[in-house]
Amino acid sequence: MRIANLAGRLVLLTGDGAVDVERAGGQRFSADPHAVYARWEEFAAWAAETGPAGAETFDEADLQAPSPTPAQVFGVGLNYRDHAAEAGLGLPDSPSVFTKFPSCLTGPSGAIALTGPTVDWEVELVAVIGREARNVPAESGWDHVAGLTVGQDLSDRTVQLAGPAPQFSLGKSAPGFGPTGPWLVTPDEFADRDNLELQCAVNGESVQKGRTSDLIFSVPELVARLSAILPLLPGDLIFTGTPAGVGGARNPQRFLAAGDELVTTIEGIGTMRHWFTEELS
Ligand code: ZN
Repeated sequence: MRIANLAGRLVLLTGDGAVDVERAGGQRFSADPHAVYARWEEFAAWAAETGPAGAETFDEADLQAPSPTPAQVFGVGLNYRDHAAEAGLGLPDSPSVFTKFPSCLTGPSGAIALTGPTVDWEVELVAVIGREARNVPAESGWDHVAGLTVGQDLSDRTVQLAGPAPQFSLGKSAPGFGPTGPWLVTPDEFADRDNLELQCAVNGESVQKGRTSDLIFSVPELVARLSAILPLLPGDLIFTGTPAGVGGARNPQRFLAAGDELVTTIEGIGTMRHWFTEELS
């Protein structure tokens, strides 16, 4: 199953287009894309019975973030060996976690304003929680995931690395720095949900390519580790980390500039397209 946020309304995607969930369900479910995660199992059962009736074609430019107002957004640093190596840092023995404040979230296409000369890309698989998780063992971690979407953990490296203790959460939370989309795909749709190719390109040049099978802490392992400390709530996002190839680790370093186009793709999910504009004054 695929669901999306189409101009602020929850839709079910079929081969024929988008079905408006509130209208098709006789108002059984809200049009609010966030509200569905709190009733995920009931919704999934209903959606499985709902055919393509009422599907309408849509403009992909109207797609917004699949979970636009999560209570919590987790980011995981150093979760691929090749990225930890390029950062010159050792492998973590527990997840290295920060937050992206929810005001940074945006949709799968459009313009993003740069905050300075050191804004960097980080393609990431994003897991969306569909059932509250507390002290969940890794073996059942996937049972708490509604689905997967594509994400970019955009990062202002100057802000992130300022001061004696790094400011990961602030450096990764400027407006527009948390794009997700273009839709949410449920885990059962993948041949192997633990092994997806992810990549991004700047102005057509590939800059990152990896596979989620190389994650140090997998999606279910992250659900276990995080839920051992605090509850994971329906609609919460986990940005699972980025593989090698970020601009700040290159020699010479390379960052996003006004006019650049960033295209971000994950196998079996889809593609996001963004372009960058001058700093807002
Ligand atoms: Zn990241």
